[in-house]
Amino acid sequence: IKGVVAIVGRPNVGKSTIFNRILGERVSIVEDTPGVTRDRIYGKGTWLTQDFRIIDTGGIQLENQPFQEEIKAQVEIAIEEADVILFIVNGRDGVTGDDEFIARMLRRSGKPVVLAVNKIDDATLQGNIYEFYALGLSEPIAVSGSHGIGIGDVMDALVEAF
Ligand code: GDP
Ligand code: MG
Repeated sequence: IKGVVAIVGRPNVGKSTIFNRILGERVSIVEDTPGVTRDRIYGKGTWLTQDFRIIDTGGIQLENQPFQEEIKAQVEIAIEEADVILFIVNGRDGVTGDDEFIARMLRRSGKPVVLAVNKIDDATLQGNIYEFYALGLSEPIAVSGSHGIGIGDVMDALVEAF
């Protein structure tokens, strides 16, 4: 399979929700053992004849690591493994320092990035996406993981970036 997508982003922005949407299933628990993530991290799919693999790096956890170290490790894995990175931010929170930290790592990597602004559940929130241009990445795409809005646009952008 040629296309490998890795999802990155702060905790609670909706990475697992969007991962499950992309794979068209709601099941995300693989292991119920303490110390092992309860999130499924790998998936395989097809979009418009393009096969892809997808990794939710948010499910890769390091024990006893400060939060920024964990995110840094997740982003490093994404940069290493992926052909294109799906960076998810929370459109309700605006741009945070941690978003900027991740964006800086991604810009330096030179990897193609698709930027999805999540939790844009209805049209009244559409205006929230514009401030994410400041991250200096690609054009922000409005999505709602929980409502299943914008997922097709994200898939189009990912496949185009392979
Ligand atoms: P992760 O930590 O980045 O994997 O985030 P999750 O997918 O676990 O989602 C974190 C929380 O945000 C959960 O309570 C989700 O139900 C919620 N959430 C995810 N996507 C959306 C969305 O599009 N809109 C809203 N309002 N909530 C969402
Ligand atoms: Mg998650």
